[in-house]
Amino acid sequence: MLNKHEDDTATRKLLEEAGRSILFTAKRPPVVMERGEGMYVWDTEGNRYLDFIGGWAVTCLGHSPMVIREALDRQASTLVNASPAFYNRPMIEFAKLLTGLSGYDKAFFASSGAEANEGAIKLARKHGALRLGGASDIVTTTGSFHGRTLATMSATGKAQWKHLFAPAVPGFKHVPLNDADAMLAAVDGNTCAIMLELVQGEGGAHPADAGYVRRLRELCDERGMMLIFDEIQTGLGRTGKLFAAEHYDVQADATTLGKGIGGGFPLSALLTRDRFDIFEPGDQGGTYIGQPLAMAVGLAVVTEIVDRGLPRRAERMGEYIRDSLSSVSGRYGLGPVRGKGLLLAFDLPEPRGAELVAECLREGLLINSPQPSAIRLIPPLIVEEEHVDGMVAALCRTMDRLFA
Ligand SMILES: *Cc1c(COP(=O)(O)O)cnc(C)c1O
Repeated sequence: MLNKHEDDTATRKLLEEAGRSILFTAKRPPVVMERGEGMYVWDTEGNRYLDFIGGWAVTCLGHSPMVIREALDRQASTLVNASPAFYNRPMIEFAKLLTGLSGYDKAFFASSGAEANEGAIKLARKHGALRLGGASDIVTTTGSFHGRTLATMSATGKAQWKHLFAPAVPGFKHVPLNDADAMLAAVDGNTCAIMLELVQGEGGAHPADAGYVRRLRELCDERGMMLIFDEIQTGLGRTGKLFAAEHYDVQADATTLGKGIGGGFPLSALLTRDRFDIFEPGDQGGTYIGQPLAMAVGLAVVTEIVDRGLPRRAERMGEYIRDSLSSVSGRYGLGPVRGKGLLLAFDLPEPRGAELVAECLREGLLINSPQPSAIRLIPPLIVEEEHVDGMVAALCRTMDRLFA
């Protein structure tokens, strides 16, 4: 049975109000999401959706998990906010946990991925100013995604964004992923850092090669540049390891985390080593740095990811999704599944991703199309076989209807 939309008057009224009062930034389907539990969300008309977007790789523990509800409840009744000028207890505990798990020495906390990347960019420029004769350029890869603030848009290697909101923030260069020669040609005396997603997420689940990442590490060591991993999408178990860097056995000088770290609560982090503990008072901050509610949630979410062995599970379920999809891919002319763990994508035979996403919504399935021909699957890390079977069945029904 296909989901019905805009059938009831109450929902129609909500949608009219949304059109009137919400600043337009994106085309949204005529659906108002109301409630979530585990792998599912429900809209105001009672339609149920199997969620393979997970809030964009965010709701790693599924919807409204007990650990988040309890952490928020406990912290909200203890301390909501005491200002970023003071330490608070969950902030200290969370920093200890993250540095212990990652092998880094120091953590900085913010609310969004873009903000964590801004912190990393500032740190790299500070490093350049102090130790590399004022070097300030950062090289990133074509097809990368680093956020939507002006600096992180400039860092992002998206062709469509090159002239958007000009002038761009200066100091960013882009080279193709996995092309070590291009990177070598791009760095010079004015380069302070290389910034990299180990698996390009928004770009469509394209992994970096192991040899390439090792080469970048050597290059940074030779020239004293910082190597920065943007693990906002790949971090916290998503790729089958707690950090994607573990697949490569390469340590960066700073790593940014976001998305899954808060399980749906706005939270991000910048991790680095003692050697890069170089900010001075006034350099970096923000009203919600180390916000106690966010810290309590992050502590609970990351503890749960580790205690339940969710990275291993992500690896196993990723294999199951690959196998399930490859058994039907021939029938629909789908490309091979790429990515790692539960950050997966495949190409359609035609650039009809948006159409497929819209039709899957009617089938009660949430998937994402980050590029016109690509479909990306980034479900909660708690996904089980039965959900994958349901996803593949709904996807096949939709493709039968669309591509017949
Ligand atoms: C989502 C994402 C960001 C931006 O995070 P926001 O929380 O949206 O600011 C940055 N880098 C990567 C790799 C991402 O996937």
